Amino acid sequence: MRPFGTTIFAEMSALAVRTGSVNLGQGFPDTDGPAVMLDAAAAAIHGGRNQYPPGPGVPELRTAISAHQKAFWGLDYDPDGEILVTAGATEAIAASILALCEPGDEVVCFEPYYDSYAASIALAGAVRRPVTLRAHDGRYTFDPAELRAAFGPRTRLVLLNSPHNPTGKVFSADELAQVAALCAEFDAYAVTDEVYEHLVFSDAAAPHVPLASLPGMRDRTVQISSAGKTFSCTGWKIGWACGPRPLVSAVTRVKQFLTYVNAGPLQPAVAVALDSPPSYYEQFRDDLQRKRDRLCQGLTEAGFAVLRPEGTYFVTADITPLGGTDGVEFCLALPERCGVVAVPTQVFYDDVTAGRRLVRFAFCKRDEVLDEAVARLRRL
Ligand code: PMP
Ligand code: GLN
Repeated sequence: MRPFGTTIFAEMSALAVRTGSVNLGQGFPDTDGPAVMLDAAAAAIHGGRNQYPPGPGVPELRTAISAHQKAFWGLDYDPDGEILVTAGATEAIAASILALCEPGDEVVCFEPYYDSYAASIALAGAVRRPVTLRAHDGRYTFDPAELRAAFGPRTRLVLLNSPHNPTGKVFSADELAQVAALCAEFDAYAVTDEVYEHLVFSDAAAPHVPLASLPGMRDRTVQISSAGKTFSCTGWKIGWACGPRPLVSAVTRVKQFLTYVNAGPLQPAVAVALDSPPSYYEQFRDDLQRKRDRLCQGLTEAGFAVLRPEGTYFVTADITPLGGTDGVEFCLALPERCGVVAVPTQVFYDDVTAGRRLVRFAFCKRDEVLDEAVARLRRL
């Protein structure tokens, strides 16, 4: 793990605190999730649910996850054996990779990739085979030939994040079908990171489609999500992995030695949140979409070349029109120049040239915070 330093998110949040900057770097909301969820957590803490929960997670949460999967995505998972509650999506991803990969196995992933992917692949002694997403006409796409070339005899799994952090890309039906066909051809597993499953904006070209719902994919996919984004509780670290029994069993065997179990009293509260009416999910999406529009407009006015996201908490922008040539330099200087923190996306690429001029801003913040950030950025 020697090559891995402090995460860019921790580094940039510390920089924001140190410089008193507006923090649009790390993706966490600055308002709380639903009151019924917070009340349920308080009740669980005061109601004596403070000891180790069952290994796979508390039954009412597994039941709620199962019902949510069925209601939104038409996927059937048995709460007893096909669902595992984890310490956030991060642990589910790490445990899945550790469970499914032997040293030297290859993991196909799209870059820019969420930073824990490279670390988890390294922990497993596996090798990452990144496929680069490039912006064309304002949309991030990949070259199908590059995707095919990334697969080979050592491919063990493909790690797919859609909606995608940091680009805000939502993989289309055609793109998902390409991934599924290669998984079948190379007999590979899929691990899908769907933490932004409820953040696909109304003007996106495609809705969110779990890879597991494509023909033949359920039996080879571990599907991962978490409560952090959907219910604005990133500090709770309640996530889950769903899949066929043998895969979930393998992931459980790893998870039990990473954390054993996690956050007992928060689990029943997330079950309450998952049972929210459809209007909750719609309003959550609409709120974030308005924030996306607010920040995209502000960034455009400030001179950035904005790549409008179709989903997630994030917008990426090219710094070239502002005279920037290197996102890391740009983001390190930004607090001093105008009191704003952003994240350079080149740190999420193996091919750093592909992301050299791109920076990421989070818009999961109160309107007044976004407006203040934009006012400061306009001084650039
Ligand atoms: N995957 C992606 C794509 C993310 O953006 C994040 C950050 N929230 C995570 C995983 C981690 O999720 P959690 O906080 O539930 O571990
Ligand atoms: N997912 C969040 C982001 O992309 C950060 C989570 C973290 O700091 N590990 O900003």
